[in-house]
Parts: sequence; C-alpha cells; structure tokens
Amino acid sequence: MSWTLSSSPSFRPSTQPGMEVQLQELRLQLEKQCLLNKELENEKLGLERRLQEKEKMLKDMQNRIDELDYHHGRTSHDGEPEVRKSRSGIIVTEPIPEDLDIAGSSVKTVSESNLIVKAIQKSDFLSRLDDEQVTMMVDCLVEREISQGEAIIVEGTEGDSMYIVAEGELRVTQAGRVLRTLTCGDVFGELAILYNCKRTASVRAVTKVKLWCIERQTYRTIMTNKSRRKREQVMGFLKIARTLKDLSDMQLSNIIDSMEEVKFQNNEVIVREGTEGDTFYIILKGEVQVTKNVNGQQKEIRRMGRGEHFGELALIRETCRTATCTAVGQVSCYSIDKEVFEETIPLEHLQLHDDSNVFEDIVIPEKKSQSTSLHLKDLVPVLYQEGRFQGEPVTLGLGGFGRVELVTTLQHGKYYALKRISKKHVVAKRQEDHVKFEKQILQDIHSDFIVRLYAGFKDTRYIYMLMEFCSGGELWTKLKEVGRFEESIAVFCTACVVEAFAYLHKRGILYRDLKPENLMLDSRGFVKLVDFGFAKELTRGEKTYSFCGTPEYMAPEIIQNQGHDFAADFWSLGVLVYELLVGSPPFSSSDPQRIYAKILDGVLKYPPYMSEAARSLISKLCRPRPGQRLGNTKNGIKDVRNHRWFGNINWHKLRVGQVDAPTVRLMRKGPCYINFDRFPYDKTQAEEETSGWDDNF
Ligand code: ATP
Ligand code: MG
Repeated sequence: MSWTLSSSPSFRPSTQPGMEVQLQELRLQLEKQCLLNKELENEKLGLERRLQEKEKMLKDMQNRIDELDYHHGRTSHDGEPEVRKSRSGIIVTEPIPEDLDIAGSSVKTVSESNLIVKAIQKSDFLSRLDDEQVTMMVDCLVEREISQGEAIIVEGTEGDSMYIVAEGELRVTQAGRVLRTLTCGDVFGELAILYNCKRTASVRAVTKVKLWCIERQTYRTIMTNKSRRKREQVMGFLKIARTLKDLSDMQLSNIIDSMEEVKFQNNEVIVREGTEGDTFYIILKGEVQVTKNVNGQQKEIRRMGRGEHFGELALIRETCRTATCTAVGQVSCYSIDKEVFEETIPLEHLQLHDDSNVFEDIVIPEKKSQSTSLHLKDLVPVLYQEGRFQGEPVTLGLGGFGRVELVTTLQHGKYYALKRISKKHVVAKRQEDHVKFEKQILQDIHSDFIVRLYAGFKDTRYIYMLMEFCSGGELWTKLKEVGRFEESIAVFCTACVVEAFAYLHKRGILYRDLKPENLMLDSRGFVKLVDFGFAKELTRGEKTYSFCGTPEYMAPEIIQNQGHDFAADFWSLGVLVYELLVGSPPFSSSDPQRIYAKILDGVLKYPPYMSEAARSLISKLCRPRPGQRLGNTKNGIKDVRNHRWFGNINWHKLRVGQVDAPTVRLMRKGPCYINFDRFPYDKTQAEEETSGWDDNF
C-alpha cells in the first residue's frame, strides 16, 4: 500500500497565483498523509513481526510444557501431584466398507476450499496430512447450519465428528468456564475422527453458525480405502518391472512398505545421464521426459507416464544413468534406494522364487503345556499375612474389566494369578470378541517370555483366566520407582520382548499394545508380556486397518489409517527402548493430539546421557516407513538381535533361561505379594449375565 506523490515537473497546468498556493498546500497535506501512511505501514509490519515472534514463542512454550510435563513428573491441573496412572489403550474396529458412498458431500467454491485448507493447516494434527489427504478431506466435508444457542459438542459425551467453522461464532466451555471463542477458520473436535473419545469441553453456537463437518466413519473409510487402492495400484506397477518379475506378492508388498513418495517440479531433472544412480522410480502422477545426449545434443527418446518406471538397473548393480529423466509439469513418484532395497529383498531373490526362509527363525522346542486338571473349586485365595488388609484375599491388580487375585491350590501350593472379568461389563462395552480372542491366543502360547494361561473358567457372573503368577510385579512400577533404567537392565528387558515378538510374529500374531504397563517380571526377573486384548492374527503381506494401541506407542501408519502389520510392533519396540532408558516416551504430551502430531513429525530427541548404540537402535526401529524398520527388513528380527546395543546378550542362553537377570536388583524380598500394590478386598459381586457369548470359554 505504500505510494509517494510524484513531484515530477512534467505535470504543470497553467494556473493563477491563488490556485498555486492552494495547490501547494494540498500537495503539502498529501505528502504529510503519505508520510503518515508510511509510518503506519512500518508500524503494521513491526506488529506483524511481533505477532509472528509471539506465535513462535507460544509454540516453543507449548513444546517446553509438553517436555516438562513428562520429564519432571506430571502434575494435574489443580497443582496436585498426579500419581502416574497407567496409560490405557484404544481400539477402534468399526468396519470399513470397501465402497463408501460419500453421501451429501458437496462441491465447494474456491474460497470455501481455501478456507478449509487454511483451517487444516492451522490444526496441529491435521496439518500433518499430505496434500492428497487434504484434498480428500476438503471433498468429504459436509455443510451444517446451526442455529443460535444450539450445542454442537457436549462435555463428557462421546464424539464422532470433527468441525471447521465457516461462519459465525461459537463458545467453548469446560465445567461451565469459558475457555475460548471459535470463529471462521477454527477447527474443533479433531480427535474424534481417529477414535471414539470423550469430549473434554462443550461447544455452543453464540450466533447462527455454518460448519463444515466430517464423521469418523467417513474419514477412516476414505483414508483407508485410499491407502488400499494406492497399494494395489503400486503393486500392479511393480509387477511389470522386469527386474522384479520373479518376486512374490509378499516381497513386492515389503518393497512398497519401504518406498517413499517424492515430488518434482516442472523441468526438474530426476536422474541425469552419466551420473551414478542408486534409485528406482515409479511414476504415480505426471509425465517424465527421457532424453539422451546424441553428439552433444539432448534428444528426446520418449515420454513416460503413470505406472511406468525407470532406474530399475540401479537396484541390482552399480550403474551410471544411461539417460536423463526430466519432470514435465508436476510429477509425483514412488521411489526406493538401492541400499533400502537390499535391506528389503535379498538380491539373489531377483532370480530365485523361494522366499520361505526369509522370516525363518531359530525354533526351540516348545514346552508342552502342563496338562491342567485344575478346577475353579480347587483354587483358594492367598491372604495378606500382615498390614492393613491382613487376613483379606490378595489382589494383584485392577484391570479395565475386573481384578486379578493371587490364588493357590491345597494340593501343591503353587501360586497362580486369577483374572476375573465381569461378563456384564464385557457385554456392555462390546468386548466379547476381544476377551474370547485373548483367551484363545494365550492358551496356545508356550513361550518363556509370555505369561502362561493354564485354564479358563466361567460362572454366571464372571469369566476367569488362570495364569502363571509373575511375582516380580509390573515393570511399569519398577520404572516409576527408579525414574529410568540403567542400560544393562533396559537391554535385558528389551531382549525378552524381542524373544516374545519373535515367538508371536513367527506364528502370525501381532501384539499391538507394547508398553511397560504390559510387561511383568517373573520370580527370576525375566520379563513377560501380558494383556493380549489387542493381539491379532495376520498373514504375512496382509494389512489390518483398526485404529489400535496406546497413543504414545502408536506407529505413524496406524494414526494415518494406512493399514499396519508386524512393523507396527517394531516401532513400539523403539518407543519402549526409549522409555526404559529415559523414563518417558519419545513422543509425549498431556494432549493426545500433540502426541499424534509429534509421532507424524517423527523427530527423535535424545538426552545427552543416552548411548550412541541405543540412539542407533531407536532411530532404526522408529523409521517412518514400515518397510525400512529394523526387524521388518529382509533378515527379519535377526537384524534386531544383531544390533550392537544387544552386544552383551547371548540370545541362545537367554532363550533357554541360562542368564542372570539384572532386573532382580529391582525386586523386593518378602511375602509373595511384596512387589505389588495392595488393594482392599471388594465383596460386591458383578451382576449375572447369561446370554451365552462365553460358551466356549
Ligand atoms: P487393562 O485392559 O485395563 O490393562 P486388564 O483387565 O487387561 O486391564 P491386566 O492388565 O491383565 O487386566 O491385569 C491387571 C493387573 O493385574 C496388572 O496390571 C498386574 O498388576 C496384575 N496382573 C495381571 N496378570 C498378572 C499375572 N499373571 N501375575 C501377576 N500379576 C498380574
Ligand atoms: Mg493391562
């Protein structure tokens, strides 16, 4: 807006002296106004700069709050130190229709689209979506008119939609207190598109309001189907690559998991003739011009389009590019480097068909299950021998659906943990399938690194799972007691988890809920995986699409609904190593949305005391592309075992139980329940439930 008055002499109308004075005065006034304008302009620029600085400061402060939140013990909002509650997992298994008729989605004008895109960019979580996902979102948002005074979100209820304000004003309140006002371009309720979460605040229209909204089901469906279609498409493209023609679908699928999307601008050279090449490309969108130097002149050989590939040779041998490939207009490719490719597929497989030993693992003979003829009536509760609850039955822990009690038998006096689950509660929360599946999976598992299930019982009120008693208590409790583990302990605990994963993955079972809360110590200090509520059977090469896990431990592909597999467990393994060594996970915040945003950013910050080997392992496990993660590359879990962080682990001895567990230092000596919190006995009984869903239990 800056402009100055021209004092150029070329404009000089013939005037009388009076007019001359007037003109002079006007000119002076105008110049003054101009100066004023300039000052205002400068002031505005200054203010804008300050605003930007303030915004940056706010962002930095938010980050620091997040860090303090976790690194210096969390305190609740009212200043009371918060006893660290274990984090609960989330699972969304709403079915995803293959073809969703996105009813009601409306065509948007350019300015409407712009408003929506701007709003998305302002949102911590949504701003991490890629361009295509944003476009889909813009397409699928539907308009909703809200009358003045109407409530859109009610605190404490479960939500399934996300909103962007198009017009009008809304007020956000929490427990009756006004938090903020929302106006055009503001986004609210984003978390609900990921999972069914309780709303933490209420939102009400102050004026007449127009909103853009999208439901979780729609969002999940478009994201998932999009990813599915893209995979299928790329799979089709890969199948016509000559070099890859001998690979199995599973191997091609692994390659896709390792590939990354890259974008090129018009005229950008993608590969240059004569230079060393190590990347293979498939064109997803746009056109590529192929030229060759003929007698010093660039000669076009051909043009390539969607689905065509180039740079194939670079994958199998050191080679110089034999042509130049240049983007014509905007081009988007899927690419993979030789180095990554070699990690994914053993080179000899390019000729060989056999891939049966890719995921081969050392098999140790399974210990046969103790044939248990135990019955519920044979079990007697173990009682507290001293203290406040002396004489009452020992409760080892409380879970989401009931309690776990310490029991024994009169015949041989062995201890067991008996998990008692209210059937009514399971039905109310629609968790029948999960509970049944947990039992079904556990009863077939015989690994020293996974809690043993000896028997299942039921009566009219409860189902029971009789488990091996892990007398060392929860690893979570130990971690909280010492703040963070010394490296030897963290290495040992992680090694046990690696063995548990090797066992499960070999049998096609995905665990999906790794965290210290689900790890227990047995009497020798060995770590065991408990809680199989989220486990899932999956064939290699297949993906599953539920939103599932505990926020801090979720892999980026889960958050983005792209479909996940065994690689998600390896991501969580990286998070676990970090948390054991640091005392808090790498992506953390009191606000789940920020956790997801941080995971999608994938920036790992290591404290100075963390060893280089640990950093290397974590960064390899927490790679954003599932196909590039250690454990999920061509040598499978062997690569994890062979990482130098585990240099002192003798894997064979660990498997056969011939190592001394450093974790014994963490365990207390005393009565058998000494490593557990104490809980008062609860005499109330759950209501009866007789619908028969637990017939096979
Ligand atoms: P949630 O789903 O809320 O995590 P849950 O109903 O699945 O809970 P668990 O996590 O299996 O229940 O068990 C609750 C607590 O009981 C555990 O945190 C642990 O303290 C204790 N516990 C569970 N299994 C055993 C076991 N085998 N030996 C000793 N203690 C156990
Ligand atoms: Mg649990």
